[in-house]
Amino acid sequence: MCGIAGVFGTDLAPQLVYLQIYSLQHRGQESVGISSWDGKDLRTVKKGGRVLEAISREDLESLKGFSAIAHVRYSTSGDSGHVNAQPLERETPLGPTAVVHNGNIVNFLPLREELSKKGINFHYSSDTELFLALLEEEKVFLPEGLNLHPKDKEILPKIFYVLNRLKGAFSFLMIVGDKLIAGRDPLGFRPLCMGRKRDAILFASESCAFDIVEAQFWREVRPGEVIVVDESGIRSYFPFQSERHAKCIFELVYFARPDSYIFGDWVYTVRKKFGIELAKEDDVQADVVIPVPDSGVVPALGYAQERGIPFEMGLIRNHYVGRSFIEPTQELRNLRVLMKLSPNRSVLKGKKIVVIDDSLVRGTTSKRIVNMLRRAGAKEIHMRIASPPVVGPCYYGIDTPTREELIANRMTLEEIAEFIGVDSLKYLSLEGLRRAVKESGNFCDACFSNNYPIPVDTGALKRNRP
Ligand code: AMP
Repeated sequence: MCGIAGVFGTDLAPQLVYLQIYSLQHRGQESVGISSWDGKDLRTVKKGGRVLEAISREDLESLKGFSAIAHVRYSTSGDSGHVNAQPLERETPLGPTAVVHNGNIVNFLPLREELSKKGINFHYSSDTELFLALLEEEKVFLPEGLNLHPKDKEILPKIFYVLNRLKGAFSFLMIVGDKLIAGRDPLGFRPLCMGRKRDAILFASESCAFDIVEAQFWREVRPGEVIVVDESGIRSYFPFQSERHAKCIFELVYFARPDSYIFGDWVYTVRKKFGIELAKEDDVQADVVIPVPDSGVVPALGYAQERGIPFEMGLIRNHYVGRSFIEPTQELRNLRVLMKLSPNRSVLKGKKIVVIDDSLVRGTTSKRIVNMLRRAGAKEIHMRIASPPVVGPCYYGIDTPTREELIANRMTLEEIAEFIGVDSLKYLSLEGLRRAVKESGNFCDACFSNNYPIPVDTGALKRNRP
């Protein structure tokens, strides 16, 4: 997972993009980077860590220009160190070029092998570098009948060639000289939105990144669409079309911020519907509904309202958690969850509780939370998960464990309930999940259904894991 943002058409571009990427911090905390272009120089600052701590005042002052792109990273391909922090930049046959990307290119390894044989060098181990390396080939692709604006005739067929070679999930932004180029893969796995602030055009993974700079959400970049922005205006092209789309349902379950609008819907509304659907499939008797903050809050509201059971904050979150280096023993590792969450005894003691979380992946977090709730005096604990069992690893940009590590592949429902220590456990059904979104046929729910929209050479992917 990653978050991307871009601004074109104001001298405040580097500052605005910095604020935008701050509001996308939930999409990646490993590294952050910004590139800016002032018509002469392409400048890039990239650091490990989070936006506020990593980017200094001097860094921001060193970035200048009317065009900027930025990225927060959560590694899914290549090494996790900040050597692979984005934007990636290089002098390509199109001039100074920088790129940020959210997603995962599934044919990365064969393509890298092919290009390396042709003598094209790779400096990083991230799939994003393909956007730059493929440009070195200087090949073109132009679908029949697609008319290009005179200003785009030189560059776009080369960009289309690059995109045509990539398979997988890619929402991207590129600075190519005086142009800012945005695009989404034909299946539209990852979100990408477009906004306006006076004369400036903005892009961001999620619409919350427009609110933070008081810009207006305009529309989403459509699956398969490529948008060019330069001083002559904004132009949209559809070089690739797909009958069906494969928007990532896990964005709505967990990743995106609840105040964002993506995939044609409000994340909050859909997430609440997951809770409502879960409630409709449940009849357990309980005194209170308790969310696991923050991810369980919105579905828990939907569940509690639908069932008419009081909603209470039985777990309180500490908002100052950062990276913790407490790892050495199992006992200390178990204490780690207490750094983030603590039990609110005033609502837990002696109560029958329904605990709601958004998803169960490895099950280790839930086990610790349940242990904490028991120690705080909860009488009965009924765990409810606002999405189906996670059975398939994601190959399109979400960092999930291997198939073997997913608890739902190793245990039955009863065994999982016993493992995490609850009186009962229930997941939202796949049908319930699909009912909660508009046009469920246009979503990728492979993590819940094993129904993968693009075939993947999993052997090759494993070899590339850090
Ligand atoms: P666990 O079952 O211990 O693996 O933890 C699952 C919890 O982690 C879920 O309730 C989510 O809130 C959160 N989560 C789900 N997917 C991810 C992910 N890809 N990266 C980080 N956290 C996640």
